[in-house]
Amino acid sequence: MSEERMLEHARPELAQAREDLHKFTMRESVVRFYARHDAKLDTAVQASPQALACEAGCSYCCRQFEVVAHPFEVFEVQAYVSRHFTAEQLRGTIERATRNVNERKAATEAARLTLRPTCPFLVDHSCSVYAARPSVCRNYHSTDKDNCQKSFEDPFNTWPNTYAHDVFHAAMGGAAGFKKAVEELGLDTRTYHLSSAFLEAMRSPDSAKRFNSGKRAFVKATFSEFDSSASS
Ligand code: SF4
Repeated sequence: MSEERMLEHARPELAQAREDLHKFTMRESVVRFYARHDAKLDTAVQASPQALACEAGCSYCCRQFEVVAHPFEVFEVQAYVSRHFTAEQLRGTIERATRNVNERKAATEAARLTLRPTCPFLVDHSCSVYAARPSVCRNYHSTDKDNCQKSFEDPFNTWPNTYAHDVFHAAMGGAAGFKKAVEELGLDTRTYHLSSAFLEAMRSPDSAKRFNSGKRAFVKATFSEFDSSASS
């Protein structure tokens, strides 16, 4: 059963994340988690009986949905941008993120289902924050690129069920384990839309302070519709 298979990955990650969060800072713990997560996914991909279709230069995932991230991931992206981006790169990213936020705001609830916002960090079909990308972006499990394209072109087409199961379970389970460890510390683990949360993180230094004190990190940023804790 798929839930049990995810738990097989979530449990050890939860134990390791608890230990890390006790010994290291949040940022250090996130970096350590990403390293473990990438290694776990590489192993799952090598062992998978299903061939993967994901490849460099394919960016349907980055243009398919509003990309989401937890606050501890948003701050990692923000730190990366602050360290590595030129003023021009930053301006372009902020423009693209603002466009996404405004398009979403202007759309009706029904129209939002068909929006295909391009992630503001996608540049020439490649991720400009690759080393710091959120955990959801580290997952790559599609076995059929044509289906990704069809799903991208037809928003009413459901997400095709053509994925490498073992890779998917490793990715979802590992991410859930780390998130749970952060949640146990009483910190915000809501799933925010990356465009709006990134803008708020850049504009309001208070968002990090709020997060560190156990409050909701972002007060203006929008949430994923699939986050059940979003309205609290
Ligand atoms: S952060 Fe990078 S990998 Fe994730 S959706 Fe954006 S461009 Fe794609």
